Amino acid sequence: MTDWEAVIGLEIHVQLATQTKMFCSCSPVFGDDPNTHTCPVCLGLPGALPVANAQAVHLGLMIGLALGCSLASQSVFHRKNYFYADSPKGYQISQFDQPLCGPGNLAGVRIHRVHLEDDAAKLIHASESGRIAGADSSTVDFNRAGTPLAEIVTEPDLHSAAQAREWLALLRTTLRTLGVSDVSMDEGSLRCDANISLRRVGDQTLGTKTELKNMNSFRFVERGIEAEIIRQRELLDSGQTVTQETLHFDPRSGSLTTLRSKEEAHDYRYFPEPDLLPVEVTEAMIASARDALPELPIERAARYVSELQIDDVLAERLAGDAELAEFFDAVVEAADKSIEARVLATWVSDDAAGRAGDDGLLASKLEPAALAELVALVDDGSITTAAGRTVLDQLFEVGGSPAAIVSDQGLGKVDGGDELEAAVDAAIAAEPEAAEKVRAGEQKALGPLVGVVMKHTSGRADGGEVRKLLLERLGS
Ligand code: ADP
Ligand code: MG
Ligand code: ZN
Repeated sequence: MTDWEAVIGLEIHVQLATQTKMFCSCSPVFGDDPNTHTCPVCLGLPGALPVANAQAVHLGLMIGLALGCSLASQSVFHRKNYFYADSPKGYQISQFDQPLCGPGNLAGVRIHRVHLEDDAAKLIHASESGRIAGADSSTVDFNRAGTPLAEIVTEPDLHSAAQAREWLALLRTTLRTLGVSDVSMDEGSLRCDANISLRRVGDQTLGTKTELKNMNSFRFVERGIEAEIIRQRELLDSGQTVTQETLHFDPRSGSLTTLRSKEEAHDYRYFPEPDLLPVEVTEAMIASARDALPELPIERAARYVSELQIDDVLAERLAGDAELAEFFDAVVEAADKSIEARVLATWVSDDAAGRAGDDGLLASKLEPAALAELVALVDDGSITTAAGRTVLDQLFEVGGSPAAIVSDQGLGKVDGGDELEAAVDAAIAAEPEAAEKVRAGEQKALGPLVGVVMKHTSGRADGGEVRKLLLERLGS
C-alpha cells in the first residue's frame, strides 16, 4: 500500500463588518426582510456606478497586517464574469493580479493573498421559507448582494483535516480579535472552501486537487476534508485518477457530490473594472490600519507564557478563544498579585469555561472579580478546592459574593477540631471493613474512609489532614 500525504489549501471568505456595502451606501445588515437594503448598484442595474468602500479597504489592510502580508501600494478591482441567478449583473467585482495584500504567514501556514470583493445575492428556496417564496418557487434576496468580503487564500501548507480545522479556528479568533467581522459561520459571515489533493509521501509535485465548497461549521470542514481524503485515497489505491472538480459535502449523509468541473481563470474573462479607480494605498492608510491592531492571539499566547509563566498548551487554549482570553485578563487584573497566574488560568479554563457551556459568553454569567476572590479563598486555605467548586456553582446559578456564599452555607474549611474528629469517627463506624484493613497496615483501604469524611463535610476538609487523623485513630 502506498503512503499518501494529504495536501490542503483553504480559501476563506470573511464578511467585513462595515457600515455600508462594498460599492454602495446600503446597509449590509443580516436577517432583515428580503430586498429591504438595495439600490441600483447592488441590484446590478445597468449604468449604476460603484464607489469603493474606504472602511472595507481599511479592514482589509488590518487583516493583511495581522497575517504578516505585504501590502500593495496600488490595488485594482477586476470584473470576474459569470452568471448565476444570485448574481444577475453577470460578474462579481473582485481582484485579480493586484490584490490588496500579498504573501504572508499565520502560524506556519503561508498566506497566498488577501483580496476584496462583493458578495452575491442569496437564493431563498421554497423548502427553506414558504412565507417568502411560494410552494415551488425561489426568491432572490438582494440584501446580501454587494456585502464586502475579504477572501483569504492560503498556500497548500496543511496536511490533515484536524490541522485544517485547528488553523481555521486560529484564523477565526484572529479575525474576531481584530473586530473586522462577526466571523459567524452559522450566519455565513465566515465561509471556508477547502482544496484537497494527495501525493506520495516524499513527492514534491502536487497531485490533482478537488475543491469542497462553502462549509459553514468547523465540524463540517473537518469531516468534509476527512471524507474527501478517504475518497481520493481509494481512487488512487485502485489505480484510478482524481478528477479536478468542485464538490459539495453533505454533512447529513456524509456524501460528496459534484457541483461543477474545473474552471480556470480564463473562463472568468477577468478585466479591470472600468467604473472604479485603482486603490492607492498610502502610508497614512497603512499607519491607521496598524494603529487599529489589537494584541493578536499569537502575541497574547506568547505573553501568557513569558510574563505569566503559563504553560504553552494552556496559554494557547486561553488565547485561542478571544472571549475566554478577555475574561482571563480581567481575572488577572482583579486578582491579588500574590496569586500565581497559572492557578487563575486553570480556574478560568477548566472550571469557569466548563460551566459556561458551549455557547460561551462567560463574562455574562460570571464576574471576573468574583472568580478572582474565590481563587484567593482557595489559595489562602480558607476553603478547599472542592468547596471552591461548590461556590463557583452558586456564582453561576445565583451570583453574589464568594465570601458571603462561604459563610452563608458554612463552606469554610474544617480545621481539625471536634467537627473533623466526629466525622472521622463516623467514617470508621460506617466502613468497619476498611477500617480493619487499615489497622492491618493496608494503606489503600483509606480511600473509602476519606470518601465518607469528605461526604460528611461536603468536601470542606483537607485531604491530607483527614488521612493523618484516620491513621492516628486506627493506630497504623
Ligand atoms: P484555482 O485556480 O483552482 O483557484 P489556486 O492555485 O488559485 O487554484 O489555488 C486555490 C487554493 O487551492 C489555494 O488555497 C491553494 O493553496 C490550493 N491548492 C492549489 N493547488 C493545490 C493542490 N494541488 N492541492 C491542494 N491544494 C491546492
Ligand atoms: Mg479558487
Ligand atoms: Zn446598494
